[in-house]
Amino acid sequence: MRHITRKTLIFLISAVLFMAGCAPLPAAVPSPSPSPTSTPAPPPTHTPTSTTAPQLSASPTSVPTKDPLSLLPVPPRFENSDEGERVYFGDAYKQLPEADTVDEIIVPELIIIHTDGQTANLPRDWNTDSTYHGLGEWYSVHFAVSQYDILQMLPMYPDGVLHGSGAAPQFNDQGEWVTYNNRSIHIEMSGHDYNALIAGWASPEMAEAIQKTTDITTDLVVSLMWFYQIDPANVLGHYQIGRGKADPGNLYFEQYFIPQLQEKWESFQRKLQP
Ligand SMILES: [Zn+2]
Repeated sequence: MRHITRKTLIFLISAVLFMAGCAPLPAAVPSPSPSPTSTPAPPPTHTPTSTTAPQLSASPTSVPTKDPLSLLPVPPRFENSDEGERVYFGDAYKQLPEADTVDEIIVPELIIIHTDGQTANLPRDWNTDSTYHGLGEWYSVHFAVSQYDILQMLPMYPDGVLHGSGAAPQFNDQGEWVTYNNRSIHIEMSGHDYNALIAGWASPEMAEAIQKTTDITTDLVVSLMWFYQIDPANVLGHYQIGRGKADPGNLYFEQYFIPQLQEKWESFQRKLQP
């Protein structure tokens, strides 16, 4: 009502002024509230004289984006299933018996590295099939790795993995009962005594088996770290979280495995740079 009254008043004043011959036409009465459309256009002082198209090189959409998934050393494969999209890493998949797992999908924050201690005398015989059959009825891990291949053994998904049982729960130094299984991906490397590589008593065949297995495992770990956003500091040897556990060997892990992993992780980060 107030609005109409004001408009009417303006119209009447304009009409009076118009009749007096000193006002613009009523149609040009200014709007009560300023609007952007009423602002005058700036004078065309900067009209370009050139007819070339504007440069688009600075536009972010024109920069080719790299696909990190295809750059991963062990790229994941995706498959649809009844329970949603599944993810597979490595050469083969063979699921462990259900009795050895906990029926829960967890978000992995840690990657725990093991050696499985399989007893073959010749390192050339260390293999992922032995890992699969050697876990027994209490243990389950997500991967077995040998110098020949990567075997995935538990279901994995874009946002989580099946709860494995690769490290026995136990009391920590504070006397609390803790488990790492509900936030870890476990990887078993085939074989034993990996410290021999650093201590200097590994035979050439044993050294080769350990080096090749490590090379494949660190490729896998880099891929899992990126895919599940796991911090490099959260890649641990079993001996670091399991009382009385020595695998995969502290000398080997600290002086060989971790330095190689860091180098590969940094190299992968550089590849992602535009
Ligand atoms: Zn272990």
